Amino acid sequence: MFDRTSRSSCEEQQSLRNYVGSLPTEDIIRISDPIDIDHVPTALVLELESRRRTPVVLIDRPIGFETPIVTNLFASRDRIARMVGAEPGGFNEVWAKALANLLPARIVDHGAVQEVVRIGAEVDAATLPISRHFEKDAGRYIGSGILVCKDPDTGTRNLSYQRLQLKGPNKFGASLHSRGHIWEHLQRCEARGRNLEVAIVIGVHPAINIAAAAKVAMEIDEFEIAGALLGQPIELVKCKTIDVEVPAQAEIVIEGEILAGEHEDEGPYGEYTGYSTFRSTKNVFVVKAITHRATPIFHDIIPGYSMEHLLLGRAAKEAHTFMRLKEMVPGLKALNFPKSGTHFHAYMSFKKTAEGQVRHALMLLLGLDSYLKLVVAVDEDVNVFNEEEVLWALATRFQADTDMFMVPDVFCNRLDPSSRDGMSAKLALDATAPLNSDAERATVPPEAAAWARSFLDRH
Ligand code: MN
Repeated sequence: MFDRTSRSSCEEQQSLRNYVGSLPTEDIIRISDPIDIDHVPTALVLELESRRRTPVVLIDRPIGFETPIVTNLFASRDRIARMVGAEPGGFNEVWAKALANLLPARIVDHGAVQEVVRIGAEVDAATLPISRHFEKDAGRYIGSGILVCKDPDTGTRNLSYQRLQLKGPNKFGASLHSRGHIWEHLQRCEARGRNLEVAIVIGVHPAINIAAAAKVAMEIDEFEIAGALLGQPIELVKCKTIDVEVPAQAEIVIEGEILAGEHEDEGPYGEYTGYSTFRSTKNVFVVKAITHRATPIFHDIIPGYSMEHLLLGRAAKEAHTFMRLKEMVPGLKALNFPKSGTHFHAYMSFKKTAEGQVRHALMLLLGLDSYLKLVVAVDEDVNVFNEEEVLWALATRFQADTDMFMVPDVFCNRLDPSSRDGMSAKLALDATAPLNSDAERATVPPEAAAWARSFLDRH
């Protein structure tokens, strides 16, 4: 069972269990009755979301499995900020600081993740509580696994997420379809007729999950970002069967290889766009060993168009895009990739000091992220995290004949079902008021607003 009472030793600071143990009770929903893990946890998280609730979900007794599950960790923007030691709203700053102060990982001799080691014929991945999430999914999928591999030329580690379809006791189908660094590594291994060694890490301190979701330069080992975020080097142990290192305090590690030149059908799978997709690089991952703690916890991330999937995917992306845009546009105040846009829309606010600045900023933003297809600029008095306010700015500060531009046929993300041949039209809307505008917002005095807030905090 999931024990939240017996921890807090300093050597557990990089563990999932220590993090979950630190959460306030009101931030957790715990299910102690046995439940079916096919579709039910996904349905629960989606229903919580429709009720605007974001608790972490603990499942003590998944029917048919011995390992408890934790999910929905990343459903709240404020919780994500606190995971990296930031105040709500302070994530971007902490991220920028971490990137400027990378902290290399430290190799240690022993790790709790190797309390139990199963190798070769002893391996059965099907005993892990891997859920079926959406109705059309091809099977049981791991979406929370951090794939750790090494650049075959430089040895630099890479962390990323790739969907993994359980296909047998020692086999998964994988899609490397973002064509990120792991895909690059595999290309170079295949050219030499070699498999790519990969460790799949499940259940770590969520700061490591956040770093693993970042798209940073190939030269950067994402464990160094995680170390900087946590303010201590991430402790790694060597895997038992491959030349890869993994977090010593992880819950579960699956060691194995992506096979060179082997392809098999994989998918469909419910993707972040909200659609079930067959697009896949159709790779094959073969398990060599599974190691885990004596009583592990399985971490699941509800995939598809769920708040946690989208927020985890873009926490680092928003911060990274914000930093780069801010270098060119000093008046930038805030940037939001709203959930409704999956990863295709962004809203930014800033203080403009000259006409024409907005168009410059809109062009930059579209260029910084190839997934984007709609960008909207608003003044600093508009909260970009409140879509109603953004739409209000469009209603009152925007005219379609003068305040927008469109760029046709630009490279985009192919998972957008409306894209054509990997290309999309990019639309930019300027919903800022002209500098000489005499339209004034109807507001209440700040003292009155403060009184109202404190009155309602008490009633
Ligand atoms: Mn990388």
